[in-house]
Amino acid sequence: MELTDIGVIKDLFSRHGFSFSKTLGQNFLINPSACPKIAEMGGCGENVCAIEIGTGVGVLTKELAKRCDKVVAVELDERLKPVLEETLAEFDNVEVIFADVMQTDLRKIIEEKFGGKETVVCANLPYYITSPVIMKILEERLPIKALTVMVQKEAADRICAKPATRESGAISYAVSWYSAPKILFRVNRGSFMPSPNVDSAVIRLDVKPESALPADEEKRMFRIIKAGFSQRRKQLANPLSGAFGLDKAALCGIFENLGIKPTARAEELSLEDYARLAKLLK
Ligand code: SAM
Repeated sequence: MELTDIGVIKDLFSRHGFSFSKTLGQNFLINPSACPKIAEMGGCGENVCAIEIGTGVGVLTKELAKRCDKVVAVELDERLKPVLEETLAEFDNVEVIFADVMQTDLRKIIEEKFGGKETVVCANLPYYITSPVIMKILEERLPIKALTVMVQKEAADRICAKPATRESGAISYAVSWYSAPKILFRVNRGSFMPSPNVDSAVIRLDVKPESALPADEEKRMFRIIKAGFSQRRKQLANPLSGAFGLDKAALCGIFENLGIKPTARAEELSLEDYARLAKLLK
């Protein structure tokens, strides 16, 4: 069954009484080359298991199942159950869990279902929860090799921006801390049904195995970054003195000790600067 064929999708929907939900970010891929590319470039292969978030009609799920030993997909919309029973019938290595990915214990799935095999996460993410899903997976430090996801093009640029550049934001720092991010390829809006108002891109985040900071310092570092970027046009010392209840002059002294300009704004500091600040701002 060719799941990128609009006629096939329409037939499936009419037989199962399914209609798209805009609130669930249901823009299904109809570009035949995109899903095989996501699976290949996302690291699927023999002795590899995959987690997918959001199956839709199973167009990417199939490509993951063809290449990986096992696929567990988490899909929120239970109306897709009869559709998936039909579209994934030929695969005995796929399990679909109907749940909200934000409430799902992905570590437990990896530990209980993948038998210690290398794991990758691949998805065409629902756009309304792109950042929360990425941050959940990274912050939980799941034992995965890489996370390869389709996101809106602007989100891809921001997520993969190098820290300390004008394009960077708090999420660029967090993503760079936990992983090595790169944009793999762009996908135009006509590749989806229904077609969204923006183009997309597939990004791959190669996960770093462990933190370079103790947990309390890492937590503080992200508090600093968040406070700084909440008022990114202001000098960093201002939002930080508010967030940490510190005297601005004392903060500027700490900045100088670290070789950071007292007038610096959030986006002018490197990730290493933030890590060093986190050590000193006890
Ligand atoms: N993978 C399919 C494709 O590429 O055509 C579907 C991608 S579509 C952009 C996003 C999918 O995520 C939808 O099937 C939607 O129902 C599902 N979804 C939305 N919110 C979710 C959530 N919180 N947890 C799990 N799945 C979710």
